[in-house]
Amino acid sequence: MSDGSALERLTALRQYQGEGKRAPHKPLLVLLALGQLNATGSSALEWSAVEERLGALLSEFGTSTTTGSSSAAYPFTRLRSDGVWQLSRDVPNDNVGPLNSEPIEGHFSPEIEEELSGSPAALNAVARALVESQFPLTIAPDVLSAVGLDPDVVFSTAPTATALAARKRDVNWRRQIVAAWDRSCAFCGFDGALGGAPVGIEAAHVRWFNFEGPDDLDNGLALCSLHHKLLDRGAIGLRDPETVIVSSAFSAVGAAGRAVYELHGRGLRPRPGTALPAPEYVMWHHAEVFKGDPLKA
Ligand SMILES: [Zn+2]
Repeated sequence: MSDGSALERLTALRQYQGEGKRAPHKPLLVLLALGQLNATGSSALEWSAVEERLGALLSEFGTSTTTGSSSAAYPFTRLRSDGVWQLSRDVPNDNVGPLNSEPIEGHFSPEIEEELSGSPAALNAVARALVESQFPLTIAPDVLSAVGLDPDVVFSTAPTATALAARKRDVNWRRQIVAAWDRSCAFCGFDGALGGAPVGIEAAHVRWFNFEGPDDLDNGLALCSLHHKLLDRGAIGLRDPETVIVSSAFSAVGAAGRAVYELHGRGLRPRPGTALPAPEYVMWHHAEVFKGDPLKA
């Protein structure tokens, strides 16, 4: 029973995604299975491996609420209802107990397995579409590497028409954000230039573009490449539209890394006329991206 290509079916997973809430469980399991298929010729994954590896992916790339074994059990059992995934024995949805009682493995349904094993291009196209729908470009390569896929190869495949349509961005937004923050990092003040042009300064969305974050001036900050990545990974966030916070999950030993601690509690100081991030986007980032609790102090 085939009703569409692997690409169509694996990128149209049923998930709870109201109000721009992130739900990376199923996409991360599919990406893990794609990496397994690419490496071994079979997508089959034992629950014990999924529990460990998907659990790690969810805690690293998910939200503060997507940790623990039950978070991994949810997609491992529920992906069946999308018609793209099968388990080696029948178990109820979501429960960890029956998964642990005796060995069980999951794998793509046969027609998906067949299509993707015969076509690396199709496999990479699915991986690209999924990773781009769930993560900003600062993080997507890290996710692909973590599941054993080569980001350079995945991003050399053509984007899907859906992805191109979804990516209709305001071409001026990046330039305007960088200019509005005086071509310097809003967190650390880095303002390096090369030949007179800013270098290593990027426009960062507070609410991610692929989660309904608009290309508006009150949804962006100019940040150096490092602080852009730390914002998107949830190591740094905002307590309110003008106060930076650092996650207690972040740690560093060396002086350059520890400099991040010093950002905690720092106020943003935009030049007159520059909009601070809107409270609704700050709240989204705090709920969906920021990791755990802020540092004390
Ligand atoms: Zn910076």
